[in-house]
Amino acid sequence: MVKLTENKHYSENKPTRSMPLPPKVYLSLIQHLGKICVPEVKVGDKVSCGQKIASLPSGVYSPIHASISGTVEAIQDCPHPVLGRAKAVVIRGEGETDTDFSRFIRKESDSLTAQELRDIILEAGIVGMGGASFPTHIKLNPPKPIGTLIINGAECEPYLTADARLMVEKSREIAAGISLITGCLGIKEVCIGIERNKPEAIEAFSGMPGIKVKVLPSDYPQGGEKQLIRNIMGRDLPRGKYPFDIGVLVQNVSTIFAIYEAVYKGKPLFERIVTVTGSCVKEPVNLLVRVGTPVRDLIKFCGLKEEPAKIIIGGPMMGIAQYTDDVPLIKSSNGLLLMNEKEAAAFEEDPCIRCAACVRGCPVGLMPCQLNLASERSFWGMTKDMGVMDCIECGVCNYVCPSHRRLLQTIKRAKLEVRK
Ligand code: SF4
Ligand code: SF4
Repeated sequence: MVKLTENKHYSENKPTRSMPLPPKVYLSLIQHLGKICVPEVKVGDKVSCGQKIASLPSGVYSPIHASISGTVEAIQDCPHPVLGRAKAVVIRGEGETDTDFSRFIRKESDSLTAQELRDIILEAGIVGMGGASFPTHIKLNPPKPIGTLIINGAECEPYLTADARLMVEKSREIAAGISLITGCLGIKEVCIGIERNKPEAIEAFSGMPGIKVKVLPSDYPQGGEKQLIRNIMGRDLPRGKYPFDIGVLVQNVSTIFAIYEAVYKGKPLFERIVTVTGSCVKEPVNLLVRVGTPVRDLIKFCGLKEEPAKIIIGGPMMGIAQYTDDVPLIKSSNGLLLMNEKEAAAFEEDPCIRCAACVRGCPVGLMPCQLNLASERSFWGMTKDMGVMDCIECGVCNYVCPSHRRLLQTIKRAKLEVRK
């Protein structure tokens, strides 16, 4: 764990504002971990906001919904914030949109079974919104009984404040979402982990019946599943095991809020809060934005103080630098960070001096310097044996390395090769 300059002051006290509807949205057919969805609409079709526009009959997927009402203009290759490029449905808006989704409400929430809750979550296209994008209906179907629900309210990435604002502004709704999960899955214990640097969020959940609040140090990375389990329950998740193996389920606050909206309002996941921040932004803000909105529209709305040298979707540690401002937001996009030239300057890589700073800093006990060497030599089997798949891609090794070695980049490559 490391202490980072938080830089949350840009937006932490700014209440969430709604961004005006974008003229066009670019809805990628892959916004989740799993298989790419197949469009259910064709060019020229009229669609209404909240309508399902892409899905699959089975498998690991999460359907995609129209985030504005309008006409399907194209189905084409578009920039994607994680994959570089992917096929997307382009919708030209009509300037108005639905706000009432009660037609999608299925059943009284009090009498939902676990399967009915999962079906609603699947139909609403909900995925892990903390960055992982794993389909939530699958995560809520663990193969083992769950005794403890851990709510991730850590938001440890510098600059980002979207989850913190959500916890302050929607604590009652998040609590109702938690009750849905615990009721349907028969979970007895609930604990929300919030970092010390979010006193308003801590206050919002303190005293809520049935929810323990664990105040966490403002260290990075605090929001990984393993770190939360260790810091909240004092238990270590063994290598290769999942939280459900020890009876734990971890959910992010934004995901729980999306579940609340799906069940109580019938609303599919087509918008989310995004922190637009950084030294180049004239008015840093937490914005409620439609999924599929291109980054250039957010930049236009917030204004610029200076031309950004680097555009990152996410935070500075785990976020991904973008090659174009045409890139649209997807369901897991929690921040847009615009850095100036000085902040974005890249360092020259020097040889490893074997200082072991990366080993001491790695929150999951890996040896990033050794993984880097093995990956550079394409020894994929060796990286697997060294536990490369446990890497949570937190970027701490890069951050602490005095030789500015690009450890994470080579580790990510090894993970890809091992997965293949
Ligand atoms: S190896 Fe992975 S988990 Fe360890 S510090 Fe580097 S990025 Fe983080
Ligand atoms: S921190 Fe950098 S220089 Fe030090 S051991 Fe790791 S890779 Fe080598």
